[in-house]
Amino acid sequence: MIRHLQSEAIAKGKSQTVSDLPGRISDQPDLRDLADVNIPEFVKEPVDETTLEHRDFEEDGFWRRIPAFAEIDRATFMDPAFQNRHSVNGASKFRALFEGFVQESFLQDVEKGLREAPMNVRITPYLLSRIDWQDPYHDPVRIQFLPVASTRLPDHPHLSLDSLHEQKDSPTPGLVHRYPDKALFLPLDVCPVYCRFCTRSYAVGGSTDTVEKGGYKPQLERWKAAFAYLAARPEIEDVVVSGGDAYMLSASRLREILTVLLAIPHIRRIRIASKGPAVMPMKILTDTAWTETLCELVEQGRKQCKEICLHTHFNCTQEISSISRDAMNLLFQRGVVVRNQSVLIRGVNDSHEAMAKLIKQLSWMNVQPYYVYQHDMVKGVEELRTRLKDSIELERQVRGITAGFNTPTFVTDVPGGGGKRDLHSFEYYDEITGVSVYRSPAVDKEKAYLYFDPIDGLPEEGREQWADRNQHSTIIARALNAAGLNKLSAVSV
Ligand SMILES: *Cc1c(COP(=O)(O)O)cnc(C)c1O
Ligand code: SF4
Repeated sequence: MIRHLQSEAIAKGKSQTVSDLPGRISDQPDLRDLADVNIPEFVKEPVDETTLEHRDFEEDGFWRRIPAFAEIDRATFMDPAFQNRHSVNGASKFRALFEGFVQESFLQDVEKGLREAPMNVRITPYLLSRIDWQDPYHDPVRIQFLPVASTRLPDHPHLSLDSLHEQKDSPTPGLVHRYPDKALFLPLDVCPVYCRFCTRSYAVGGSTDTVEKGGYKPQLERWKAAFAYLAARPEIEDVVVSGGDAYMLSASRLREILTVLLAIPHIRRIRIASKGPAVMPMKILTDTAWTETLCELVEQGRKQCKEICLHTHFNCTQEISSISRDAMNLLFQRGVVVRNQSVLIRGVNDSHEAMAKLIKQLSWMNVQPYYVYQHDMVKGVEELRTRLKDSIELERQVRGITAGFNTPTFVTDVPGGGGKRDLHSFEYYDEITGVSVYRSPAVDKEKAYLYFDPIDGLPEEGREQWADRNQHSTIIARALNAAGLNKLSAVSV
């Protein structure tokens, strides 16, 4: 194991030369010349081994801990069809798999949570087997995908279903053109899993049909309208192909989309956004047709001096196993750039240890941490959001632990369609009422955008103000005034 390179001798500073290092490093042909070189005196204390745990990846067989999967062999588990077929898509399937293994009270809590949830549930066997079922209440994977009723908090009063106002910036269904040179293309509305925190809960998750089964013809017409718009707007250089999820496209549909996008002369950068690697990493290793299509098109793009890359969405290290590592290694070896966008979620990745380990583990797998998103204001998941204040402190803790290009930017996708803003760039932030005020001149010079901390984390004074409906408009007017923006029109939903 890589992390045990630090021997007793080194730890005590007694090691003399490179040949004394453990692991017989100096036996390697390229290091042989170093064998007799004296090791300079250390300027730092020996490193704490727990800070190197991101290099450990749980090896095969972890799914057998779940009785329902105890007999499943590797070949079966690695088959995406198995993962799809055995995904938990409702309370009865959950009970069928977990009755007798988890506490009955927890099971009932989940059933009640599912009845109250605004979204469908869908979790792969891979993710189910990454959950610590001894302590499901605190497990970061469970928290993201499986609601329980007992932790539910009331929604913030300033919350609407399409909190990012994507529908307003949409020239044709499935296309969002908000920023000058970028567009967001949503080719389908199904995902390999349904995340509780999903911003697109207005569109995603209604259907569990795949594109292949129903409605490909209407999809194709919709896609053509989007392509026509993209072809007609010369300023668009950057297209994000997002969710739903491109993982759910067959190899031939993926090829169709990428081929058309590559053929549009002004499009230079194409990102395929997929939750897939985090929730069903085996597909990259075993669905050869899909992976080969991706790699081929990446290569074709490179020949045209255009970048096709993959943007994925790992939120915590518990989602990552040796299968994820092998999948990411394969893509790296084939020259596919992979970046990661996380959502900051209470109880999942909001401690600096959890976030630091995630960043380091992604970097180890050559996945570049790109963004950490402040949790959007989404219905039914108030207990998952963090206060801006805590997110800022988290950013402060992690910046500097590793290479700058592997340090994610922390952003808020401000409600009302202002787009992504650097967390720190608020005009004003009131820690008592939890209101933050942002501007976004590239989107709209005339508007101020507001984000609201979850009320349960506010000091008593703030909670009292929100408890009184009549004070809501005063709270907002005060924040805008303090920001010096009272002449702008506030977008608050
Ligand atoms: C996030 C997003 C993009 C891409 O933004 P980057 O900051 O370049 O990653 C493009 N369009 C929309 C509507 C988005 O929400
Ligand atoms: S995979 Fe992405 S688009 Fe699909 S539910 Fe999760 S966050 Fe939403």
